Amino acid sequence: MTTTFSHLACIACGRRYETDDIRYRCDCGDLLEVRHDLEALAHAYPDLKARFESRLGKFEKPYCSGVWRYHELILPDLPVAAIVSKPEGNTNLYHSERLSRAFNTRNLYLKHEGENPTLSFKDRGMTAGVSWARHLGMTRVACASTGDTSAAMAAYAAEVDGMRGIVFLPHEKISPEQLAQAISYGALTLAIETDFDGCMRLVAEVCARRPIYLLNSMNSFRIEGQKAIGLETLQQLGWRVPDWFVIPVGNAGNISALGKGLLEARALGLIDRLPRLAGIQARAADPFYRGFLTGFKQRPVVEAAPTYASAIRIGDPVSRDKAARAVLAFDGVVEEVEEAELMEAKGMADRAGVSVCPNSGVALAGLRKLRAQGTIGDAETVVVILTAHGAKFSRLGVDYHLGALADAQPSAPNPPVRVRPLLDQVLAALDKEG
Ligand SMILES: *Cc1c(COP(=O)(O)O)cnc(C)c1O
Ligand SMILES: [Zn+2]
Repeated sequence: MTTTFSHLACIACGRRYETDDIRYRCDCGDLLEVRHDLEALAHAYPDLKARFESRLGKFEKPYCSGVWRYHELILPDLPVAAIVSKPEGNTNLYHSERLSRAFNTRNLYLKHEGENPTLSFKDRGMTAGVSWARHLGMTRVACASTGDTSAAMAAYAAEVDGMRGIVFLPHEKISPEQLAQAISYGALTLAIETDFDGCMRLVAEVCARRPIYLLNSMNSFRIEGQKAIGLETLQQLGWRVPDWFVIPVGNAGNISALGKGLLEARALGLIDRLPRLAGIQARAADPFYRGFLTGFKQRPVVEAAPTYASAIRIGDPVSRDKAARAVLAFDGVVEEVEEAELMEAKGMADRAGVSVCPNSGVALAGLRKLRAQGTIGDAETVVVILTAHGAKFSRLGVDYHLGALADAQPSAPNPPVRVRPLLDQVLAALDKEG
């Protein structure tokens, strides 16, 4: 393969590797990232913004995708013929009076990544990761997952003839909807009696021993696809830069991707300044928050306790160093929120007509906290990244309104009203409400 624009580089020692070298870490043990020669890109494509604009409204793959619209910035060396796209992206950026009032933030935008094909942002990483796997000729792909990575990987592997997806799931720690996704898309599904961190260690060992391509977010190519969340948001805002991006943090790949994409966008002149970043965690699993409190001098590892935000129940985030770098480069902050706060915030978005998952509830609760502290000002423009759809956690949504969650009582409960199938009873129920 002749690499034109990109190579892999270690984030600690800087050592370079070719992009067809199948490796997830540097020889020194640290993380790798894909680096693009931005000068060469700018030279080859002097009209990047116009290119991205010209692809809007197109229906043909791959450029109709909200990831591959930015092909030159995602994986410029990947041939179009290798791309596996559903397509993905093109998610709504919600902005309404109702939402602004609910979250006491005038210029509020919610980027709803739950509107991707498998209902989470993981599709953006997987279209890049599975495409790269196909490009490399890998026929087996694997990941450990808190539910959404496995759903996305299974769905993208299912599109490629001869490709097998293998998922490592923590037994009974993901939602039934997420489990249904992995098995119905045909992945070999291993339910393992451990937590996510245990699954992560196992899958990394297995991929080192078998010719299986690892598609966790320590795979740098996935991160490239996830950058498109930020790029697409900027394009939807007419390339105006918001003051803040607020995003939930688990394994810390997504906030790293957001930061990387924004830095590249500025280096290429697509934008002229940087926003600030706010990473939010659930208190039950808050190692990144704890690291932030030490100025990232320490890298705490915790045993992640149960949380409704099960997709970010991670005690030892793989991408913490990349994420820490992003938080520092963007004058960022990290906050944490309680179970009751994240469910309350989820309930508020749901009630305003935007169905969100509890992990997105973490980001929304973080916004409320940062607004209350005054860290985020009233007039500032804020984009909150919603990471998955509420439909992936429907039991939780019902239990919340039934008042069945011990540590999160709804402030506006709306349980179903039981009525017998008699007209006068139905009318009585309506009239009672007024
Ligand atoms: C994966 C995931 C996250 C966390 O993203 P990281 O890159 O692991 O920090 C948040 N929310 C949902 C719904 C997810 O699936
Ligand atoms: Zn290194």
